[in-house]
Amino acid sequence: MPSFSMEVKNELAHFNESNICCLYAELSALLRMGGTFVLNMRHHLGINFSTENAAVARRVLAFTKGLCIGEINTELIVRRSRRLQKNNYYTIRVLPSKKTNNLFEKLGFIDGNGGFNMGKDGALLSKYCCKEAYLRGAFLGGGSVNRPDGGYHLEISTSNYEFFCQLDVLLGQFGFSAGKTMRKENYVLYLKESEAIISFLRMIGASQILEEFESVRNLKEVRNQVNRLVNCETANLQKTVDASLRQVKNITELLKRDSIDKLPDTLRKAARARIENPDASLSELAQILGIGKSGVNHRLRKLEAMARSLKECEK
Ligand SMILES: [Zn+2]
Repeated sequence: MPSFSMEVKNELAHFNESNICCLYAELSALLRMGGTFVLNMRHHLGINFSTENAAVARRVLAFTKGLCIGEINTELIVRRSRRLQKNNYYTIRVLPSKKTNNLFEKLGFIDGNGGFNMGKDGALLSKYCCKEAYLRGAFLGGGSVNRPDGGYHLEISTSNYEFFCQLDVLLGQFGFSAGKTMRKENYVLYLKESEAIISFLRMIGASQILEEFESVRNLKEVRNQVNRLVNCETANLQKTVDASLRQVKNITELLKRDSIDKLPDTLRKAARARIENPDASLSELAQILGIGKSGVNHRLRKLEAMARSLKECEK
């Protein structure tokens, strides 16, 4: 069974993006996430992009070729995993040339002075449509999300600090307050609440998989609620049983030492009712005796106190 992340990415990788502005934004984030830049002798920039997801690899290749004016040289390398359950690894190599430099300038990787821009993509992100596309690219390149029947967790991780800050700002602009942590060499942004994860996935375009996510989440919540109720009732029941056992034991001891006829009328009735109905709750005893719950409680306490003081005296 493919991982949930893989399923989400498979859907997102087929998201039909028709705005040119958003194509640039998404590709920029994708390449920042999964790409390693290479420079040739003529100061032309190329890139090696790696992913475990074939659909993502195809998307990167299609976007790169589509946005580059004129032919560029690309290669696709597939490393087959020898281990079972492990995914293949796809690497797209975009070989450095003048044309790739043009593309990377448009993507904002090369700034006006010919220097390298590490992760400030403000120019690409003036519109909200592009911001969403950028976050989609980031998730496709370096995101993961747990299947909702486990704990809720969605994260995006990158080794590039400036890019990480950029993503954090963007998430903030959409009202997400992502947690931040470091894992090994990577900066990680994460969401832990089911509502936030759902809105994020909806925003970046994973609508089909969301139906599954939401139905599993709803099931899980109903199950949790039932469990809470059952636990609560079990705990109450246990308390009642424990109290009753203790009362019956104390009253029996009291009656061994002192005849029941010596007890005042009210206490005698309470003692009998308790011994004859060991399973009854306080309210049930109250009904049997025709008095209030606090009255029953008071009488049983009194009986227990008498038993204790008798025992003390014997010592
Ligand atoms: Zn756009």
